[in-house]
Amino acid sequence: ASAQEIDKTYIIGTDITFAPFEYKDAEGDYKGIDVDLLDAIAKDQGFNYELRPLGFSAALQALETNQVDGMIAGMSITPERQESFDFSEPYFESGVVMAVSKSNDDITSYEDLEGKTVAIKVGTTGAAFAQSIQEEYGFEVNTFEDSANMYEDVQTGNSDAAFEDYPVMAYAIQSGLELKIPTDPEPGDNYGFAVNKEQNAELLEMFNNGLINIRANGTYDDIINSYLGDTT
Ligand code: GLN
Repeated sequence: ASAQEIDKTYIIGTDITFAPFEYKDAEGDYKGIDVDLLDAIAKDQGFNYELRPLGFSAALQALETNQVDGMIAGMSITPERQESFDFSEPYFESGVVMAVSKSNDDITSYEDLEGKTVAIKVGTTGAAFAQSIQEEYGFEVNTFEDSANMYEDVQTGNSDAAFEDYPVMAYAIQSGLELKIPTDPEPGDNYGFAVNKEQNAELLEMFNNGLINIRANGTYDDIINSYLGDTT
């Protein structure tokens, strides 16, 4: 890397409430799997960065307009996004899932969404999936900017269901959120670090190289296990 690249501080956009990938702790600091992975990779590769918790759709827009250099936000690698962004190698497997209130025994399948209201989060693959089945199953949607408010709308009964990433919804429920998951997740989703198309190629390369190194030296597993427990 050139001296200029070494001095550069990369601005990285992220989500605001997306535990265990990024969330604010009691001290007001951001922590989570994405936060720790980025930090470990930056240390391994020797680059400087500044994390900007903007919210998911705001971070997407910031990346598209080059206001940030990269994005790590439990962001799914999709063919549509690959037209606008360049992604790293996948670093975590995910999938969209439906969640309903813990006390709701009426919704056990997508068919039961007929005439109901579904909460979705702007710009996400969960929102895209809900919209792709909306006509078939006949429901209304309420849109939210962040996951916490989306869950809240289901908890209060204003919405009947929400669509969210499985690892995030399962973690929230385990942490005490009064929702449940009545169906299997939609498979085939993977998280990647993203840069704007054909921008910051050196940053993307460092991310990929660092990811290989932290997988090899055990840091990756330590980070995952510190949030999700050793399930292997
Ligand atoms: N994985 C989902 C997506 O990429 C949700 C990400 C998020 O809400 N932070 O759209």
